[in-house]
Amino acid sequence: MPGLEDLYREIILDHYRTPRNRGELAVPPARHAEGHNPLCGDEITVFLDVAEQNGVDVISDVKIAGQGCSISQSSASMMSAAVKGKSVREVRALVRKFKGMMSIDTGEDDPEVDVLLGDLEALQGVVKFPVRIKCATLAWNTLIEALDNPVPSDT
Ligand code: ZN
Repeated sequence: MPGLEDLYREIILDHYRTPRNRGELAVPPARHAEGHNPLCGDEITVFLDVAEQNGVDVISDVKIAGQGCSISQSSASMMSAAVKGKSVREVRALVRKFKGMMSIDTGEDDPEVDVLLGDLEALQGVVKFPVRIKCATLAWNTLIEALDNPVPSDT
């Protein structure tokens, strides 16, 4: 019977070979940010459409561009699948939880938002390799940057 580590390796490889939500969104109306990890050469651009649904800001679409090692690219693919359709508040809570799994202290939790890591737990083995933590967190830091960036104007 395959162990948990094999299952995790399969999930990571699957996202690397068949990345979800690859592409770009038109800016504007999308917001975007670029992230680099010079230690490994990873590059990721995150595009986000944020739309109000029932009074809540929701990530209505997400696209990922860029290139790099298998950890950075599969983490970006898993991130895109995990945040699509979630509220901005849930997404920020998920980023804190993911970085917590990577042993990065992000301060206060949001006690009113409960999010599950699900498949993202496949990346928890990365924490044993400090140099790869930057690969795994690149997409997540870039996601927060894109969220915090003002939507570019047409002019
Ligand atoms: Zn890398």
